[in-house]
Amino acid sequence: MSKIVGIDLGTTHSLVAMVDSGIPLVVADGEGRRLTPSVVHFPGLDQPTWVGVPANHVRALHPATTIYSIKRFMGRRCEELGEKDRQVDYPLNSQGLVKVPVHGREYLPEEISAEVLAKLRRDVSESLGEPVTRAVITVPAYFNDAQRSATKRAGELAGFQVERILNEPTAAALAYGLDKLGETARVAVYDLGGGTFDLSILELKQGVFQVIATHGDTRLGGDDLDQRLVDYLWGIICHEWARQNPGKPQLEIHPGLRARLREAAEQAKIKLSSDTGVDLALPFLVPGFSFQHHLTRDVLEQLTHDLIARTRPLCLQALADARLQTSDLDQVILVGGQTRMPLVRRFVADLFQCVEFSETRGNLRLGHDPHKSGGPALNVSQNPDEAVALGAAIQAEILAGGLNNLLLLDVTPLSLGLETFGGLMNVLIPRNSTIPVKAGELFTTAVDQQKSMLVHVLQGERERARDNWSLGRFTIEFAPAARGLARVGVQFEIDANGILHVLARDIQTGRQTTVDMRSAVDVDDGAVQQMVEESVENAFTDLAIRRWVESRLKAEATLAATREGLAACTDLDGEYRRQVQAAAKEVEEALATETEDRGNGDLPRLKASISSLDEITRPLADRLMDQAMEAMLKQRGII
Ligand code: ADP
Ligand code: MG
Repeated sequence: MSKIVGIDLGTTHSLVAMVDSGIPLVVADGEGRRLTPSVVHFPGLDQPTWVGVPANHVRALHPATTIYSIKRFMGRRCEELGEKDRQVDYPLNSQGLVKVPVHGREYLPEEISAEVLAKLRRDVSESLGEPVTRAVITVPAYFNDAQRSATKRAGELAGFQVERILNEPTAAALAYGLDKLGETARVAVYDLGGGTFDLSILELKQGVFQVIATHGDTRLGGDDLDQRLVDYLWGIICHEWARQNPGKPQLEIHPGLRARLREAAEQAKIKLSSDTGVDLALPFLVPGFSFQHHLTRDVLEQLTHDLIARTRPLCLQALADARLQTSDLDQVILVGGQTRMPLVRRFVADLFQCVEFSETRGNLRLGHDPHKSGGPALNVSQNPDEAVALGAAIQAEILAGGLNNLLLLDVTPLSLGLETFGGLMNVLIPRNSTIPVKAGELFTTAVDQQKSMLVHVLQGERERARDNWSLGRFTIEFAPAARGLARVGVQFEIDANGILHVLARDIQTGRQTTVDMRSAVDVDDGAVQQMVEESVENAFTDLAIRRWVESRLKAEATLAATREGLAACTDLDGEYRRQVQAAAKEVEEALATETEDRGNGDLPRLKASISSLDEITRPLADRLMDQAMEAMLKQRGII
């Protein structure tokens, strides 16, 4: 089975990720870069394209042949485009499907995206040491059929078999481990990337996400913040230049200068997400003039806060469409590189009235506490621009069927059950059940006038209770009654966090006890493997033990009934009584063949002796039945 990878084909950046030994990872290219700018440069007709960082570098130099933000045009027609949409540095055709003329040829957007995807395919194939041909590719939730089909075609042109087109917010939620939330959960995904903003509201039901509302702005993102900073810096530069060069004509901006400024502005903006100030240096910005400036986070925030505030009505609109209020949300997650900005985090926390805050590092997917108090919890990650790709990789691994063995948090690694009569394991939740999961069973008492029952919770694959791991034990008390009359219901529930809740209820009185066991899924991989291997190795012995113990229980019950019968019927024929006693003795002797660890014995002999005793005591059982009937009728005054 070949590997399936996950790809975030972004407007500004694209990434490829995969699940390796259960861990989702972003795959870096030969130069160690995890993010590939979604930029393609065509150096000349029939010459190989440049993709990623090198293409980005020549964007200002060769604007007509360096294509960026092509995602905006995927599967779209010229007539659909607004005036703003057409504002790119390269030319577009004017009729029918959007195409980009380069060196006398017209390229469809998917052909250009295919160049980016082909690079990612080369990178991941090289890293794995084998050709990768299958992928899950993400698209914005609002993409229509035509846009999705174009994305799929892009994948195929790049040599992929596209296994699924996945919604970006769904992928992000998977990456944050939100598929493990409670039975129904609502999640808002706030995605602010380089050139687009999306707010999606997802509803999770039994591990399946549905996008219930989505709103956004295809022309709002980190690039706009960069532009604000460029304008601001340019103002200072012109002022400074005029001060140093009195009487000279004003400075004029040109594409090369603009590109350099834009790069510096973005670097400064990124730095200001972690630092409160940054020293900008642009040596020889124009001949004979160097520029230096100290920029603070405060200034950046003042320059850009109105841009971030533009997302507010879009978020509110999505909530209104979903007929929800912020307090109906369980989680809010931040996606997209621009959400690293502290201002954005504060803004979102405030807008959604978030009450909790959790930051994940590394590969996300830590699982979350579904218990909330009031408002939603805000989830942020150190690498919010990787969430979509990691989620796509997780979906890919699910499709490849590899996840069951790999991500222990999603399934129960070992069976869970109770110790029952005879020291056997009674499985309630079998191994590899997807969590959350619930299961229950009714138990009855084995002894007359029993007042309590021991609930012994076990984990493992072996037939005998003592060969499994004990997770804990407690007793449930109930009103004493004849054997078999009391009924105790036991329910196991493993929640989304892998915690096992055991509930035991006396059916008659409704009195119940609930005990939370330690995590039922967070067990050491090696120990799980050992347990499973041992259960396979011991399968035959284990089965023999179970059959012996079951027969022993039956023998003990029959013997007890026989003794009761003999005691109750004092007028039995002497010869018959001796025959019954001999048959009972044979059962006792067969039982005595049991080995020291009470695990096994002469099973055929035991079985044969039980059937003879059954056979011979049938008249006795009939008489007992008659006597019981007579007693009952007398009691009711019928005879
Ligand atoms: P897209 O989904 O559009 O491809 P990304 O999620 O890669 O975009 O986000 C790219 C944007 O995130 C860029 O504008 C970039 O400047 C911005 N960005 C990346 N890192 C940071 C950071 N540390 N602080 C602020 N903005 C950042
Ligand atoms: Mg994105």
